[in-house]
Amino acid sequence: MLGEYGIIGVTIIFCIGTVVFLLVRSSQRAAKPDAQDTACLKEIIARDRQIQKMEIKMNQVAGLNSRYLSFMLKVPTIVQRLNSTSRLHTIILAITEMVKDVVVTKTVELYLYDAADNQLKKLSADGVFNQEQVIVTLGEGIIGSAAKHRFVMMREHFNKMNPHMNGHQNPDSQIWMAVPITFKERLLGVVGVGEIDNPVGNESDLLKMIADIAAVALMNQAILSEAQLKANTDPLTGLNNRNYLYRMAQHYIEQSVQEETALSIFLFDIDNFKDYNDTNGHSAGDQLLIELSQLMRGSTRRESTIVRYGGEEFIIMLPRIDKEGAFIYAERLREKIANHPFRHREKQPMRFVSVSGGIASFPDDGDSIHKVIELADMALYQAKRAGKNLVLPYNPRLSQNTGAEKNPEQ
Ligand code: GH3
Ligand code: MG
Ligand code: MG
Repeated sequence: MLGEYGIIGVTIIFCIGTVVFLLVRSSQRAAKPDAQDTACLKEIIARDRQIQKMEIKMNQVAGLNSRYLSFMLKVPTIVQRLNSTSRLHTIILAITEMVKDVVVTKTVELYLYDAADNQLKKLSADGVFNQEQVIVTLGEGIIGSAAKHRFVMMREHFNKMNPHMNGHQNPDSQIWMAVPITFKERLLGVVGVGEIDNPVGNESDLLKMIADIAAVALMNQAILSEAQLKANTDPLTGLNNRNYLYRMAQHYIEQSVQEETALSIFLFDIDNFKDYNDTNGHSAGDQLLIELSQLMRGSTRRESTIVRYGGEEFIIMLPRIDKEGAFIYAERLREKIANHPFRHREKQPMRFVSVSGGIASFPDDGDSIHKVIELADMALYQAKRAGKNLVLPYNPRLSQNTGAEKNPEQ
C-alpha cells in the first residue's frame, strides 16, 4: 500500500505532467500553424485582393460619374447652341467639341450620309467637306460597318468580324470606335473616335448620347435648309425667286461697293407668250419655261444669279460685270434662245421663240437694286416697242424721249 503520501505524490506528478504537456502543445501550435489556419490566411489575402479590385472599380465609377456629370452639366448649353444655328459648320464643331469633352483622344472624325449616292462623306475638323473628299461606302471599314448595321462598332469587334483585314492599312485604321448617328432608324452620319486615353468603360454610352443630340441637330438643320430652299425657289423652274433676288442683291451690292466693281442686271421677258399658251396650251407653256430655264443655266457663270422675276419675266444678276460686258452676255443669250428648237416655235409670230430685255448697272445707272431693276425694265419696254427680239442697255436720253415709264412690279 502506498499510503497517504504515496497518493498525494502520484497526483502531483500527474498534474505537473499535464501542465508540461499542455505547454509543449501550445508552444508547438505557435510555431507551426495547422491546415485550418492556413485556409484562414488564404482567405484574408483573397479578401484583401478583392478590396483592392473594388477600390479600382470604385475609382473607375467615380471617374465615369464625373465624366457623366460634367457632360450632363454641359448638355443644356450645347443643345441651346445647336438649336440657335442652322449652319452645318457650327453643328459639326459643336459635335466634335462634345466628343472631345467626354473622351481624351487625338482623333475625332465626322462622316455625313449622302442618301442620293448612298455614301458617307468625311468632313474636316472645321466642318467642311475635305478637298480630296474621303468617301466611304456602307459596310466598308469600321465607319461603313457602324453605318450599315446601325450599332456602335469597336475596333476589336470589327477586327474579329473581319480577320482578313487585320494588319491591312485601310483609310479608317486610326478609328477605334464608330458610332452611327441615326434619327428614327434614318442614317444621318457616323462619328469616328481614335484610341482613347485612360478609358473608364462605357465611353460608348456617352458617345451614343452625343450621337443622339447630333442627330436631332442635323435633322433640324436639314429641315430648316429645306424650308429655306423652298422659300427661295420657284417650284416650276427650280430657279431662284424674288425673295432670293433681294437677299443676293444686298450681298452683290456690298461686294460691288467694296471692290469698286459694277453689278449689272439683265431683265428679260418672253415675246408673245400669251399667244404660245393660247395656241399650244398652258402645260406646253410650262414646258417652255422649264426648257428656257435650263438653257439659261447652261449659259450663265456660277457667280451670277438667275431669277424667275414674274410669270415669263427673268432677271440675271451679273456681279463684277459692267454694262458693256452685260450687253455682250445678254445678246449671246437672246440669240441662243432665238435659235433654240423649242417645241411649237414655228407657230409663234416670228416663227421662233424670242425674248426682249433691258440692262442697267449699279452704281452707274442707279444707287439701289430697286432703281436698277426699274431702269432695266424701262429699257425692256423700249425693246418691246422697237419690235421685240431685242436687248437694249438703259439709256437716260432714250427714256426721256419716249417717256417710257413702267412699274417694275408689273
Ligand atoms: P409681250 O410680247 O408683250 O411680252 O406679250 P406676252 O403675250 O408675252 O405678254 P402678256 O403679259 O400679255 O402675257 C404673259 C402670259 O404669260 C400670260 C400668262 O398666262 C402667261 N404666264 C405667266 N406665268 C405662266 C406660267 O407659269 N405658265 C404658263 N404656261 N404661262 C404663264
Ligand atoms: Mg410679261
Ligand atoms: Mg411677254
